Parts: sequence; C-alpha cells; structure tokens
Amino acid sequence: MNELDLFADDVEAAEAANLTQQAIVDTQQNLGKMLDLMPIGLLIHTEQGIVFANRQACSFLQGSLTKLRGQHLLDYTAIGDVDSVSHALRMTFADPDTSFDIECAIERPDGTSRLIKLITGALPWPGNPVIQILMQDVTDQKKAEISLRQMTITDELTGAYNRRHALYEAGLHLEAAITNGMHLSVAMIDIDHFKHVNDTYGHDAGDLVLKALALLANQFLATNTMLDSPLFARFGGEEFLFLLPGASGQSAFALADAFRRQVARMVVDLSGTKLKLTVSAGIASFRAGDTSFEEILKRADTALYVAKAEGRNRVCQSD
Ligand code: GH3
Ligand code: MG
Ligand code: MG
Repeated sequence: MNELDLFADDVEAAEAANLTQQAIVDTQQNLGKMLDLMPIGLLIHTEQGIVFANRQACSFLQGSLTKLRGQHLLDYTAIGDVDSVSHALRMTFADPDTSFDIECAIERPDGTSRLIKLITGALPWPGNPVIQILMQDVTDQKKAEISLRQMTITDELTGAYNRRHALYEAGLHLEAAITNGMHLSVAMIDIDHFKHVNDTYGHDAGDLVLKALALLANQFLATNTMLDSPLFARFGGEEFLFLLPGASGQSAFALADAFRRQVARMVVDLSGTKLKLTVSAGIASFRAGDTSFEEILKRADTALYVAKAEGRNRVCQSD
C-alpha cells in the first residue's frame, strides 16, 4: 500500500465519521425536543462511544451530553454485567437485524447503582455503524417483584417458607428422586402441648414461641447440615417441616434429633417468664414406587403420631 492509498483511507474514514455525525445532527434536529421528553433513556452509540444521550439517559448516567460524549456504556456497566452488555453491543454492531433485550446494573458517578433494561438496535445510517440503546430503569419494579414473590413464598408470622412453597420445592426434588434415585427425606415437626402455651400465656406469647422456633430452625440449618438445599417451612399452625433433599432417612433422623435437642435447650423469654418447650418429629424418606410427595408426607405424619403417642419430645422414623 503506498502513501497515496493510506491518505485515501484516512479521507474515507473522515468522510464516514462526518456522515455519521451529520446523520445524528439531522436526527436530533428533526425529532426536536421529542427525544428529551421520552421517559426512556436513549443513547446513540458508535463502536468508539456515546455520541448522543437524551435527557433521561443523561439523568441515568448523571452527566451532561457534553460529558457523556465519547464515554462508553461499558464505563458505567457493573463488572458482573460487562460480558453480557459487551456481547449485546458487539452483536448489534455486527448485524443490523439483531436486537438485544437484557438487564444490567449500571453504576453511576455518585456511587449509586440502578438496574436497567437495555434494548439495543442498529440504526440504518450512512457511515460508521451506529446503534441505539434504549434504557429503562427497572430497579423499583424489580424490588417490588422480589418483595411480592417473598410474600407469596413465606409465612407472615415467622418469616419461614410457607406450605405452598415447601410443596412446590418438594415436587421438584421428588422428580429428581424419581429420575435419578436421589435421596429425599422430610422431618415433620410439631410443638408439644402448644395449646397449653396459648391457654396459659396467651395467643401473643404463642406467636412469640412460633417465631423463636423458626429462628432457631433457620440458624440450625445454616450451621448443621452439608446438604445443598435444605428447607425449613411452617407447614400449618404449630407444625413445621424440614425438607431434606439428598438426605437418607438415617441422616434426616440424626438431623431432626439434633434439632429436637436444641429446641429442648432453648429458653423463650415471655416478658420475664422463661418458657421451655419440646417438639416431636416424624421422619419419612422417598421410596422407589412413590409417585407423589403426599405419600412421603403421610408416612412422616404417621411417624409423628407415633412420636406423640410414645410420650413426645422424640423423633420417630417411618418404617
Ligand atoms: P400435641 O403435643 O399433641 O401436639 O398438642 P398441641 O397442644 O400442641 O396440639 P393441638 O393441635 O391440640 O394444638 C395446637 C394449637 O396451636 C391450637 C392452636 O390454637 C394453636 N395455633 C395454631 N396456629 C397458631 C398461631 O399462629 N399462633 C398461636 N399463638 N397459636 C396457634
Ligand atoms: Mg402440637
Ligand atoms: Mg399440631
């Protein structure tokens, strides 16, 4: 390549950049204030960086248009999302028919972070490839979704998972047990003589006891099991469940018995009155031939009944 060719390349590159810039200026003028009124952020981006940001995008990224020009969206992308955003941008530049719709965390100059839904698409402009990026702040929506989901899967009083969620998770683990022969055990736990607590100290005191038990159970699971996804749920009134995927009947028994002993050592302070309580538990495990979780629950219930009949404060295993 001789000097003349190199010069021609430079001229071509400069012309391409001018064409792009002109197209952007035209678009801004043609669309006037509309782009700034949009409640959605809009970036116009070349491979080098931002060439235009509407008012909403400036507000997301906390910079004026002058400051943002030349910066890159990746400069604002949280580290964990750099790969996915970078991939979306690269693919959109490479193929004008490609569009991406992804979520990513944006980190802003003031240190705050927002969750943004990004939609990318190529712009059919002359010159260098240009893409548009629509940015919608979904932080509050995501928070609301999470708290709504939390409400649907937890028990309001104790914060433990509720029966519905336990049954849903149990269904998933049962499938794994049926198809891969994975262990699956449950411990059905019931407070002994709980009615007596209510009758003697009042319903509010009973509620405190339920909360204390749930707290203890979650701490217990966090420190006493190597299982991947043990779950503790309030199954009904004063009845709780440990769902123990991967646990054999024997290890479920050991776990439930250790918990039973911890409960017996716990003291619940009812405004000065120190209350002690005990629980009984029934253990049952998945068996070849089981087709529903109810079958396992039924056996756990029978074992629990035996534990009660034999004098309470004990764990019994279904045979
Ligand atoms: P057992 O040892 O045989 O299990 O006896 P128990 O008294 O624990 O069992 P029973 O089934 O007779 O009583 C359970 C009590 O639990 C009755 C009910 O009022 C109480 N209960 C259920 N849900 C709640 C709750 O949310 N708060 C309070 N305070 N009590 C509850
Ligand atoms: Mg009871
Ligand atoms: Mg009961």
